[in-house]
Parts: sequence; C-alpha cells; structure tokens
Amino acid sequence: MDSSIPGGSVVPPLFDLQINGFAGVDFQTPHVRPDELLRAVRGLRANGCTRFLLTLITDRWDSLLAKLRQLRQTRDSSPELRAAIAGWHLEGPFLSSEPAYHGAHNPAWMLDPTPNHFSELRVATGDDLVLLTLAPERGGALDAIALAVSLGFKVSLGHTNAPATCLREAAAAGATGFTHLGNACPQTLDRHDNILWRVLETPGLNISLIADQRHVSPPLFRLLHRLIPGDRIFYTTDAMAAAGAPPGRYHLGPLELEVGPDRIVREPGKTHFAGSATTPVEAVFHAATMLGVSWRETWQRLSDLPARWLGLPTPDPAAANAPRCEVRVSPAGQLEALRAVLPEPLPA
Ligand SMILES: [Zn+2]
Repeated sequence: MDSSIPGGSVVPPLFDLQINGFAGVDFQTPHVRPDELLRAVRGLRANGCTRFLLTLITDRWDSLLAKLRQLRQTRDSSPELRAAIAGWHLEGPFLSSEPAYHGAHNPAWMLDPTPNHFSELRVATGDDLVLLTLAPERGGALDAIALAVSLGFKVSLGHTNAPATCLREAAAAGATGFTHLGNACPQTLDRHDNILWRVLETPGLNISLIADQRHVSPPLFRLLHRLIPGDRIFYTTDAMAAAGAPPGRYHLGPLELEVGPDRIVREPGKTHFAGSATTPVEAVFHAATMLGVSWRETWQRLSDLPARWLGLPTPDPAAANAPRCEVRVSPAGQLEALRAVLPEPLPA
C-alpha cells in the first residue's frame, strides 16, 4: 500500500502504553463523556497514535474501579473507541509512598496489593488487556505479582525504591517491565546505590522512557540505550490533558497543573514534573534528536515493540486495509506531514 502523502513512507501506527489524558480531556475525572473520549482519541490519531492504554493513576480503590467500569462501558459503545483503547494501565495505587518516589500520586490513597484487589480488578475489566505498575516493596507485593500474572495482568515495576534483591524477586515472580525509568525518584540520588543502578542490574525488565528531552536528560537517555538490550527500550509520552492542547491550566485528577509555553507540566510552585504535554509523534522525533539517529529507528519503540511486549497484534502496515501511518520527513529530519489511517470499516 503506497502512501497517499506525496513522497511519504508507510509505517506502523504509534502505540502508547501510558496516556492519562489528551486534547484537554483528563481521563482521571469521573464520568468522562463519550464525546470527550472521542476528542482525545482523535487528537491522538492526529499525532500518529491509533492505539493506547488508557491510564488511570492512584485514586481511592473504589473510585478507580468505578471509573474503569464506566470507561469500559463508554469504550464498548463505539467502534472508534474500541479500536483505539487497547486496554488499561493502572499506575497505582500499589506504589511507594516515600517522598519523591510517589511523584504526583497521592500517598494517602496508596495500598498494599491483596488477592481481593486483583479479583475485583478482573471482574471490572473482564478479559481486557491490563498493565499494572506497582512497587514490589509494598507488603505482599511479590505474591501479588505472581497472582496478577496468573490472572493475565501484565506487571511493570515503577514509583519504587525497592532494594536490588526485591527487584530481582519481582522479576522472578513475573514482572517484565519498568515504568518511566529516570522519573518518580528524587532530584538527588545516592551515587553508590540508587533505583537507577538497581534497575539496570536487574535482568529481564523492559524499560519505558518518557522521550520528551526533559523527563530523562539527553545524556542519560543515550547512556540507557547503551546499557539496555536493543529491543527492551520503549518510549511513552505519559501524556496528560495538556498534550495536544494549548498552554494553560489543566487537571490530572484532583491536581491543578500548569503548562507554560515551554510545554513542561508542573504543579504550581513545585519542581517535579506531573506527566507530559508531549504528543506521541513528537516523542519519536525527540528521541531521534537525542540519539542522533533517524526517526525510523526510534519509531518502532513507540509502535510495534511495546505492542508486541503486551501481546497485541502488529499487522504489516503495507498490507491492504491495515492500520498504518503515512509520514513525510524533510532531508533535515523535520516532520512535514503525517496521516494515520484506520481499516475500513472498523470492526463493529
Ligand atoms: Zn508515573
């Protein structure tokens, strides 16, 4: 299938495993309306991303389940939403409540994971794809990881200050990911022993990085690519409502956040970041800039590589009526044109 953009290339559509909101829509608020969800989905598609994991961050457990049930119902009401929302990413509430490690999450709502939580979560999500980010040092977490994997959940570690042995035990119990390495930790770390060194020494983890040139500094971004095997690095935007929208004030659940012309998302008066305002296609090009490589090399890390890790199908974009992105990039590496194409008709 040729590109309908003159001089364009055909590539797989982008897939982002952590989207908290987009185009002014905050997924964390209760009762997100179908038209709002469609606005976010279309905004993401305009930025090359046709599928994503809708991400819910730490909230009171009952509120989280209620939001999931409602979002699932809304998704099921529309073929367009069903095609876009590949599953759910629960980032919390089983995270570290230590200062700085909890990031923008409210520690008061954090919990130790129990078998009961996971059976309730399974009931709320049916047989949907679910990615759980959790901190393995929480009470009972290692048994909970094994149980979660047996129930078909995918487990990623994150927002954690776990010791090295605990990280290894978590990987042995079935955790296969680490969420946004380099973030959700203090500004200043012990140079001899910190969460970065410990994760880098833990075998078997697939690492996600927020590729916006800010959450992970360009030198660290490059070094991580030298240290981590090639197919084990994924990119995410960790986008919140301000992504794909103008600067201003936005919400991430109960937090009011400020996004200036520099596109950095901050809690007013605080230094740490709270999600990003970067779009998926921007992240691919930010990564290429930081690494000094072609966008073609970084594209797969925000498309087929994370999708395959989660067991999602990754059809050949050149096949007839396959989902695809058409992209034209200038000789200097600037994105000139982008179009994401869905199969027609969408499965009912
Ligand atoms: Zn996070």
